[in-house]
Amino acid sequence: LAQHGLDVLVLEEDPVIGEPVDCSGVIGREAFDVLELPTASIQDHLQHIEVIAPSGQALPVSFPNVLAHIVDRSAFDRALAGQASTAGASVWTAAVVRALRVAKEAVHLTVMRNGSSISVRARAVVLASGPRYQFQQQLGMGGPSRYLKTVQVEVEQPMATPLRVFLGRKISPGSFAWWLPVRQGRGYRVKIGVTVIDGSSQAAFRAFLELLRRRGELEPDGLTARGWMIPIAPLSKTYSDRVVAVGDAAGQTKPTTGGGLYYGLLCARIAAEVIANGIRRRDLSSRSLAEYERRWRHVLRRELAAASRFRRLFERLSDADIDRLFAFLAQDGFMKRLERNMDFDWHRNAILQTLQERPLAGILLGGALRSQAARWFD
Ligand SMILES: Cc1cc2nc3c(=O)[nH]c(=O)nc-3n(C[C@H](O)[C@H](O)[C@H](O)COP(=O)(O)OP(=O)(O)OC[C@H]3O[C@@H](n4cnc5c(N)ncnc54)[C@H](O)[C@@H]3O)c2cc1C
Repeated sequence: LAQHGLDVLVLEEDPVIGEPVDCSGVIGREAFDVLELPTASIQDHLQHIEVIAPSGQALPVSFPNVLAHIVDRSAFDRALAGQASTAGASVWTAAVVRALRVAKEAVHLTVMRNGSSISVRARAVVLASGPRYQFQQQLGMGGPSRYLKTVQVEVEQPMATPLRVFLGRKISPGSFAWWLPVRQGRGYRVKIGVTVIDGSSQAAFRAFLELLRRRGELEPDGLTARGWMIPIAPLSKTYSDRVVAVGDAAGQTKPTTGGGLYYGLLCARIAAEVIANGIRRRDLSSRSLAEYERRWRHVLRRELAAASRFRRLFERLSDADIDRLFAFLAQDGFMKRLERNMDFDWHRNAILQTLQERPLAGILLGGALRSQAARWFD
């Protein structure tokens, strides 16, 4: 928005930009090519993954090129705030937006800063508040219908290990857990986390730590970690008079993994163009800002639909189903064929290819049929 020549004020409630961190910081390579993202915060690169089945079987997956970069999310956010300041935006920290009122000529915000209440008047407001939906609900945009609950911790690690993704109902019902090592100076750190769709994420995290200890990958100690959440379905409406929502505030994430940085930033760019046009035309009405939603849905609609359906199929698989999937994937050379369609951010092609393979489709659809049949005969 500042690059469009507008007066911009960024309001961040935390005292320090980028802290606390609720993110692993894995961003696909394409995002760095398409958007001018800061590269100085890149800690490591992702080119190999080991996926671990509930049985413990490991499926190594290698890509011909770097698939994604892993950033220090705190440094990444500070660099983005720096870019905004350089473009002319003012960035206020420790500034909590407490209330928002849309009037005919402006939006009025009440901001708490250093113990004082400040009134801010703006022609337009971008809600980029992460997974918080108070203002969206107030403005009739609703909230996301589905969430992943997450827990993550970051600890030192003495040696290099591969990135591992763990599947299985005991540690991550309907979702996945991760062991994500990054280089730091001469040593390593590892981000350890789980996502769950149902049940307690803290219980899932404890089960995951226990598994890692049994595998000899983690010293026993009392690790505690912060829980957070990720929306995995967009809001039914992401605009109203003078207001748009972007990023997690709009539910613009990948329903498969919950990764939201690239989709959120892509949509933010569209939001900036639409608002700048609206200001030029002196029309920031809901009808004018509807163009934002039309444009971002045009980019993401098919991906979100495919990924969301695939997730629902995956959520119904038992551990035995996942083990059978692995047995097939490991035997068949399928992973090599799938490589062509594998993309860090765009999953639809890989999903369609997977469903073309009869044994895989059988396992994936079998879980859905079983749960449907259980309901029929209940
Ligand atoms: C454990 C975990 C791991 C993840 N890993 C990845 C990953 O590897 N790759 C990926 O792409 N995505 C990942 N995600 C998702 C990713 O973190 C989010 O999609 C992304 O942070 C969304 O960015 P955002 O700017 O929309 O919201 P946020 O990053 O949540 O930023 C919102 C900001 O708004 C501020 N705020 C909120 N309300 C107010 C208010 N009233 N007044 C002032 N300020 C306010 C908050 O303090 C916050 O700083 C992960 C998420 C979690 C929880």
